[in-house]
Amino acid sequence: MVNKVLLILTLVLSLGLAFFFFRPAFMPGTGSEPGRKDGFRAPPYPEYRIEARYDPRSGLIEGKLNLTYPNPYTFSLKELQFNLPAKALATGAEIKIEAGNFQGRRVEYITTGDKLLFLLDPPLRPQETAEVNIEFHTKVPEVAARLGRFRGANMLAGWYPILAPRTGGTWQGVVMDRGFGDPYFADAAFYRVKLILPTGYKVIAGGRAVDVRAEGRDQVWHFTGEQPLREFSFAAGPGWRYIFGPPGKVELVLAGDEGAGVAVQEGIILATAARALDFFQEKFGPYPYSYFHIALVPLAELAGMEYPGLIFISTLADFSPSVVVHEVAHQWWYNLVGTDQVNEPWMDEGLAEYSTLLFYRYHDPSLYRQRLSAAEGMAADPMFMDRTLKDYPTALAYRQGVYAGGRSFWLELEKKIGEEKLLAFLSRLRRDYLFRRLQKEDLLRELKSIE
Ligand SMILES: [Zn+2]
Repeated sequence: MVNKVLLILTLVLSLGLAFFFFRPAFMPGTGSEPGRKDGFRAPPYPEYRIEARYDPRSGLIEGKLNLTYPNPYTFSLKELQFNLPAKALATGAEIKIEAGNFQGRRVEYITTGDKLLFLLDPPLRPQETAEVNIEFHTKVPEVAARLGRFRGANMLAGWYPILAPRTGGTWQGVVMDRGFGDPYFADAAFYRVKLILPTGYKVIAGGRAVDVRAEGRDQVWHFTGEQPLREFSFAAGPGWRYIFGPPGKVELVLAGDEGAGVAVQEGIILATAARALDFFQEKFGPYPYSYFHIALVPLAELAGMEYPGLIFISTLADFSPSVVVHEVAHQWWYNLVGTDQVNEPWMDEGLAEYSTLLFYRYHDPSLYRQRLSAAEGMAADPMFMDRTLKDYPTALAYRQGVYAGGRSFWLELEKKIGEEKLLAFLSRLRRDYLFRRLQKEDLLRELKSIE
């Protein structure tokens, strides 16, 4: 209806998206699947099977990856791109490709520091399934980073070749030389991962450990993601403890070093995560895994970091429970509903920030009022919000544009339509875009439908 369209258009214009024109609604197609101009259709998900031996002393991972990937496009693919995120996450980190084959045959591939490109001849036809095997070595440097080892703790994100996502008909790569933000993103896939570590190391991962057994001097861990995940990360340390959260439908486990210096906060972290999981399930819809994991690890530049089924909370940053709430919110806005964090970083960060405020509105009203007035005081320049990660010159500019700008987008919308309608809308996004990606253009089209 015109007035609704006008309302939303006004909002969008006021937030600096004036250059963006609504595209006509797509054909209804199959149920909730909005068609895409790039010929994408609802996927049967890819599946990764990864086997990796990690030696924490040398920081070397020796891995083998098997990916089955049904071509979800209506056209043939002449190449498949994998991203190699390691270099973007830590100085000195690197993924080296040792061997690769496609459909059991050797094919030509090109590898640079941050990507691996298989040239497919013949091309992969629509709905044909590719089987790719890759052998790789990953160097994990001695740094307190998302991919690093520091004071006995091992942080393993971005450690294996991961299929690049496609937008607008092209593979999206890794953003290099940015000390802030999320330098890559990925689409949802099933994961089965076998990890081999020295005996005595405890692992906590984005999957559920379904089998752990000793083999000689090693321990072999088998993980499954239960439902699709956008990536598989883990953390490990010698003599780590597992602490279990309050019993519930989702098993909450925190892992870390006893000497991490945050012992008194473990209870707060677990209790906050439990409340946030319950709250967001009630407001946005189910969290479909039986586990939620928290690793207390040293991260020099970050207070926390989200992965599917797993969050990192830094032992080097000043602790605030709101970091836990923010990272739990990302399970909905990043993992369940994927976004393009490289080109549209305000989408998942804005939603995670809005969700955090919403949590405090119900759980700590005085803190909520404080945070809200601080948020309003930031007066984010709306023109600054809708930029790609590469376009932000500094971490501060990124935070103002992406976090503050993204948050004010949702607060403004809430002022116009009310909390109840906004939550109904967000629950619908959670349902309709589950394990898919919500691009800005999808969001703008969906906003038109708000009653
Ligand atoms: Zn975030």
